Amino acid sequence: MVTFPTQETKQMAGLAAGERRLHAGSNPGCQVASEAEAGVESKVRVLVAEDTLTNQMLIKLLLERMGFEVAIAIDGAEAVQKALSEHFDLILMDIQMPNVDGYEATRALRQEGLAIPIIAVTANAMPGDDAKCINAGCDYYMSKPVDSVELTVVIFKYLSRESS
Ligand code: MN
Repeated sequence: MVTFPTQETKQMAGLAAGERRLHAGSNPGCQVASEAEAGVESKVRVLVAEDTLTNQMLIKLLLERMGFEVAIAIDGAEAVQKALSEHFDLILMDIQMPNVDGYEATRALRQEGLAIPIIAVTANAMPGDDAKCINAGCDYYMSKPVDSVELTVVIFKYLSRESS
């Protein structure tokens, strides 16, 4: 798609360039890194579908520390609605949620053709839960409590798989 810059977007681009120069200072070696920082749209966005407030807060904090932008969905219905109307790079999907659970939400998203990684997160892991998650369309399965190291490793693994 070809878009022609309007006066407004030209001004915004100018401002962004100014910001980059400000960041880079006198060291030209900083240019690449600061351009990446300046590109707000390039920030990785993660959707966290989770019905429990404490887990929402914990997972959001962990992800923000990793440098991701986080959006919360409080149940499966909201997860489906948000994932189909906004851009995300990855979804963390709680399985036990009211209204629409994680299995149903994942199935619905895959049926709509959403191809981004979906990582299932579930409490009270039972034998066979992992297969149920994968069958529903999840890429991976993690049990609660969420381990920050496992979460980091898994997220970077699936994000790098997406971009390669
Ligand atoms: Mn839950």
